[in-house]
Amino acid sequence: MDCIFCQIASNAITGKRAYEDDQVVAFYDNNPQAPTHILIIPRQHIATTNELELNHSPLIGHMVLTATKLAKELSLAEDGYRLVWNCNRQGGQAVYHIHLHLLGGRAMRWPPG
Ligand code: IMP
Repeated sequence: MDCIFCQIASNAITGKRAYEDDQVVAFYDNNPQAPTHILIIPRQHIATTNELELNHSPLIGHMVLTATKLAKELSLAEDGYRLVWNCNRQGGQAVYHIHLHLLGGRAMRWPPG
């Protein structure tokens, strides 16, 4: 299992988890870009958002709802937060297992870098 996020999902690599269930794992980014920076990943290995198909829709919806649930639980919802998917080189993707970034706790800038 070469994929670091598959290893995190299977607990072969441990990290601070924010949430998990049978479909997704949410854990704290080890190089946080905001006071709160959590990654939501599917347990299923999917390399990039380019590989997503219609049958993944419930899973993607569950990832987004996991992020918004955490944002509410962590008191980010009222002030606001950012959800980010990076895809491939120019999108800034470094880990090739899809992940949804939840960033909050500071004012975000636009346009993003
Ligand atoms: P990407 O640039 O969208 O692919 O984001 C990958 C994210 O994964 C970056 O924010 C990294 O800091 C984070 N990351 C990489 N390896 C680990 C790890 O082992 N634990 C937690 N976060 C990680």
